[in-house]
Amino acid sequence: MQEEGRDFTGISFDVGQCDVCEREVLTYPAYEGEAEVICCVHCDARVTNGLRTALGEDLPDFGYGLLELQGCGNPECGGGRCSRMADEEAG
Ligand SMILES: [Zn+2]
Repeated sequence: MQEEGRDFTGISFDVGQCDVCEREVLTYPAYEGEAEVICCVHCDARVTNGLRTALGEDLPDFGYGLLELQGCGNPECGGGRCSRMADEEAG
């Protein structure tokens, strides 16, 4: 476990299951008339299922690769100082 650069640790995010994206997504609160609704950050659809709070360190578990934190897989990368990405294709 690398400790440096994990600034998202301990920060909570609101997430939910987006029917449009068909995955768990980050959400943001919005107002629809007087009612507060939760919307998907990707497609702006209303999210009503699976709402929960996730911690920053949980985000990679459901597809939010924090690239600057994950680095490129090289243990010497240091998280963000290396320009390579893990899934970068040559060319
Ligand atoms: Zn969505």
